[in-house]
This record gives sequence, C-alpha cells and structure tokens, in this order.
Amino acid sequence: MSTQAVPMVKAEGVHKSFGHAHILKGIDLEVAQGEVFCLVGPSGSGKSTFLRCINHLEKISAGRLWVDGHLVGYRQKGDKLYELKEREVAAQRRDIGMVFQRFNLFPHMTALENVMEAPVQVKGETRAVARERALKLLDRVGLGERTGHYPAQLSGGQQQRVAIARALAMEPKLMLFDEPTSALDPELVGEVLDVMRDLAEDGMTMIVVTHEMGFAREVGDSLVFMDDGVVVESGHPREVLTNPQHERTKAFLSKVL
Ligand code: ADP
Ligand code: MG
Repeated sequence: MSTQAVPMVKAEGVHKSFGHAHILKGIDLEVAQGEVFCLVGPSGSGKSTFLRCINHLEKISAGRLWVDGHLVGYRQKGDKLYELKEREVAAQRRDIGMVFQRFNLFPHMTALENVMEAPVQVKGETRAVARERALKLLDRVGLGERTGHYPAQLSGGQQQRVAIARALAMEPKLMLFDEPTSALDPELVGEVLDVMRDLAEDGMTMIVVTHEMGFAREVGDSLVFMDDGVVVESGHPREVLTNPQHERTKAFLSKVL
C-alpha cells in the first residue's frame, strides 16, 4: 500500500450511540483504495451500524470519518466543523454503492428499469445513456438474458445480482456489502460471490460484511474482527483466520468456519 494515497475510508475514534445504547465504541481503521476489506463479527456487534455511518444513514456521535479524503457529513474550516447541506450530503452518498441482505428491488420495475432508475432520477442522465450502461452491467452480472424480468420472476441470487448492478450504475468509488448472501439459499450464494470477486478483480474498493470466510480468505485483502463495538483484531484474512490471537475471535471463528 502506498503511504501517499488517500485511504478510501478512514475512521478515527468513531463512536455511535442510540440514546443510552453505546454501539460503536471507538472504531479506528483504514481501507485503502482498491482494497477488499472484510468486516466480520457476531450479530449485534455494530457492523451494519458502521456501514450505515459511512453511507450517511446514521450520524456518528463522536470521532471522525472520511471517505476518499472528505469528512463524512461535515466540512472543516480551521478547527470548526460545519454540517453539510442536504445537497452536499446527497453528492457524497452518490459515490457510495450499498448492497443489503435483502435486495430491495422495486417490485413493479423490470431488472433493466431497476438498474436505470437512479442514474435517470438522481443524476439526470438520459434514458438512452442509462439504458446502455444498465444493459452492460446486467450482462456483466450474468443477467443479459433476463433484463425484462420482474424481481418476482427472478431467484434470490439473480435479484441480488440485479441489486449489485443497480448500485454499480451510479459508478460508485466505494461499494458496501452488508451480508449480501445471508438471505440466500445455499446453492445461490456462489453466483453472488462470483460477481463480487469479479468486481474486486476489477479494482473496486469494497467493504464486505460477511460470514463467508472462504470469500474473505480468497478475495479479501484485509479482515477486521469486530465485537461489541470495538475492533478486536485485524490483519490479512489468511492470518486472522488461521491464527487468531484473541479468545473472542477464536470463539467466533469456531462457529462460522
Ligand atoms: P450487526 O450488524 O453487527 O449485527 P448492528 O449494527 O445491526 O449489528 O447493531 C448493533 C446494535 O445496535 C444492536 O444491539 C442493535 O439493536 C442496535 N441498533 C442498531 N440500530 C439501532 C437503532 N436505530 N436504534 C437503536 N438501536 C439500534
Ligand atoms: Mg448487520
């Protein structure tokens, strides 16, 4: 990793509370440009909350968070922070694609229309341009033959691949995956992981919350194990997975490996 490159994501002492519930308790981490960063940990440890903070779906309670060198949600002038205006927040969010456990496709739109929607509505792209790109993306995720299908006519794995294409249609510089295969029947997991692997090979920066340790081992550049709102340990996936240092990591891995 070049020390000169601005990290794609940098968290410094990030805290998040919901009322009295202290969920993120000082997260420090860096995701380099082009890195596949796997975030693992038990349910309730704060993984989704952390992704949601990156993507402006939640506001952090303390600390600093940067995406591609820009403070998330704020502008800094001297020592002071000023909240970004709605329009500026929207501009930051446009650069981040997110894929959830549930595919959240628009049920009344075809696969093609789902992928075209945001570029047309949010970026004001012409339908012709958006359509061209959507067709390419659907082809890339292996759904070139199903562009006219509605979500209900597609399998879970196919729907999730449409969801990935839809996120890519905004040409994000960062992709967040929150347990993208957890809701899928086991036989459909591979086709989604294959698409993610392809994306990784293409150089996309990705933060992937997953229990798929095979994927983390083969595709991940780094792995962070999080528990109870703190980073317990981190390192190269193969190292952490084969030689975990902390009891909590060992206990977790013994359940998912
Ligand atoms: P993970 O993704 O690791 O399973 P989450 O980030 O979803 O964990 O949740 C961490 C904790 O934060 C959980 O105890 C959850 O109940 C709590 N939490 C998440 N979102 C909210 C919210 N909007 N209000 C209150 N508590 C929340
Ligand atoms: Mg979660």
